[in-house]
Amino acid sequence: MADMRLIVAGAGGRMGRALTRVIAETPGAVLAGALEAPGSELLGKDAGVLAGLPANGVQLSADLWTLSANADGILDFTVPGATIANVAIAAQRGLVHVIGTTGLSASDEAVIKSVTSRAIVVKSGNMSLGVNLLAALVKRVAQSLDESFDIEILEMHHKSKIDAPSGTALMLGEAAAAGRKIALEERSARGRDGFTGARRSGDIGFASLRGGTVVGDHSVIFSGPHERITLAHHAEDRILFAHGALKAALWAHGKKPGFYSMADVLGLGD
Ligand code: NAP
Repeated sequence: MADMRLIVAGAGGRMGRALTRVIAETPGAVLAGALEAPGSELLGKDAGVLAGLPANGVQLSADLWTLSANADGILDFTVPGATIANVAIAAQRGLVHVIGTTGLSASDEAVIKSVTSRAIVVKSGNMSLGVNLLAALVKRVAQSLDESFDIEILEMHHKSKIDAPSGTALMLGEAAAAGRKIALEERSARGRDGFTGARRSGDIGFASLRGGTVVGDHSVIFSGPHERITLAHHAEDRILFAHGALKAALWAHGKKPGFYSMADVLGLGD
């Protein structure tokens, strides 16, 4: 198969720059375009130089429709509004759309699902092998323990992160809820503050910490009578997510339209 031509959306962002570097070192992938927000001061800049590499002649543009005429896929780590705008174009062009953006609302998720009869979407709140393995373990442990074990999810990220709880924390919450056979949206406890009353049995609690340059720490705590089990993951460099996203794109290239997860890419399904 010819090299997969990929567009990096949010090419000036932290993840976008990491993706540009990973594409440059990965056989079978080539950078076909670099997308940035309309009005960004980075438009017209060289994507390679922004990523700390030699110039590669790919200039940041805000026009996905034009860029995508000559591409096979888009790696999208941006903001919800941008991702939803990109979904329609990716579907129309028949691109592989790898979505790492977090903070998407239920209606955003519905828009994404609505295009998967035409588009190939791989979406995950966390693209790392370790976290996807952790989610499988969390589901398994939640299946084994009854409601006498309270489930709490604690996450910490760098001080610039704009959404909470993290997409990964929610993904781990979904895994715990699936293990317990409950609906997360009905049983999650978020943002406790003040006189909250006692913890409701069976809830899944979330707590978020922000500070410094932390790439992503997650712990799932099963707190029972007189004992506590903690499953944890620590991301040390965001290049990890970029490697996962690229692996997802190459895996999805040529697959039939549908909605896929990292568990599908990594073969971690049930
Ligand atoms: P970031 O540094 O703020 O990067 C986001 C980039 O998207 C910025 O350069 C931003 O430009 C750009 N952008 C905004 N609107 C756009 C538009 N309409 N079109 C194109 N680009 C646009 O954030 P980050 O740390 O890279 O994270 C990005 C997202 O990925 C977040 O949602 C984060 O939670 C998520 N993430 C997911 C994973 C995973 O494994 N799933 C891992 C890490 C991060 P401006 O600055 O000009 O607005």
